[in-house]
Amino acid sequence: MKKKECPSCAMEIDQTEEVCPICQYEFPTQAKGTIWVAVLLLLVILLWLLL
Ligand SMILES: [Zn+2]
Repeated sequence: MKKKECPSCAMEIDQTEEVCPICQYEFPTQAKGTIWVAVLLLLVILLWLLL
């Protein structure tokens, strides 16, 4: 399992953790949902242009 260092308490925690279990530091998460919204919007615009 991959580990990452918490920038707040310098503890090694699990890579998959989104919140540090020791100091509750919140890691910035990659917005996967935002990409899908952008892709869907692009498809809608393309369809609208074709029709
Ligand atoms: Zn921490």
